[in-house]
Amino acid sequence: MTETRPAAPRDLSDRLRHPVPHLFVYAFAIVPAIALVAAVPLAWGWGLTWLDAGLALGMYVVSMLGVTVGFHRYFTHGSFKANRPLRIALAIAGSLAVQGPVRHWVADHRRHHAYADVEGDPHSPWRYGTSPAALVRGFWHAHMGWIFDRSLTDQRRFTPDLLDDPDIDRVHRAFSALTVVSLLGPALIGGLVTWSWWGALTAFFWAGLVRVAVSHHVAWSTNSICHLVGERPWRARDRSTNVWILAIPSMGESWHNLHHADPTSARHGVGRWEIDISAGTIRLFELLGWAHDVRWPTAKRLAKLAARPEQAPAT
Ligand SMILES: [Zn+2]
Ligand SMILES: [Zn+2]
Repeated sequence: MTETRPAAPRDLSDRLRHPVPHLFVYAFAIVPAIALVAAVPLAWGWGLTWLDAGLALGMYVVSMLGVTVGFHRYFTHGSFKANRPLRIALAIAGSLAVQGPVRHWVADHRRHHAYADVEGDPHSPWRYGTSPAALVRGFWHAHMGWIFDRSLTDQRRFTPDLLDDPDIDRVHRAFSALTVVSLLGPALIGGLVTWSWWGALTAFFWAGLVRVAVSHHVAWSTNSICHLVGERPWRARDRSTNVWILAIPSMGESWHNLHHADPTSARHGVGRWEIDISAGTIRLFELLGWAHDVRWPTAKRLAKLAARPEQAPAT
């Protein structure tokens, strides 16, 4: 807010989302949330089988890493280079998180970094001001209100690199089909393993709806909580924060203050105890030879970025 950055131009969006997919935005934001609220009382009645729990966890990990490693650290920020199979696999895995097609996600997120917490940011909790009432409204907007805005971030301006890529174009266009796979895939496995419709239904509920709702709210917390409360040990030009309690469910994305201080870094959790599962996954891809030119943080760079240099975490 105190920054002197260029005012946001008016043409950050180039068109409106079509009414039919927009209806689905409402459906996919609200139905899984209702499922989540219903989940706790139902859990006592149905129980949660090991199969449902395993499917839910497996889908959570694959789709979250698809977003954090794929959509975010790779496609948005280019923090490493990937071979073609990994590039396609990351685009598909991220799509399974039902957070929108890859180019929309990347365009919104690049715009977030360009205008973080100033006019033009698609999801800043500081949008309405700093009074308690403004922050309550801002929290809702940053957490999920912003996704109901029909204007779509201009892809020619923010994602020209992805528009030129036929592989990514195919995955982008397959988003609806991948959403169906994400929701009904676990039901199919649950049904086949238990050989029952009931097994299919409980797998759909837990590993489809509830898993999507939990992953949505964890991902959205990076936009809301991690720009509102938490630690600011790094020099970022916005209000991003580190929130340790979200580190594991967010796969390391809640070390968000370091991320804004050094957006292309492949590792966001740089302190000794700052668990960053996404960074560990990128390291695994590097060891397997699927990823290269990984931008790992150096001690020298971190020393420059520390808000108080003498307190730079050891790496
Ligand atoms: Zn941010
Ligand atoms: Zn980012």
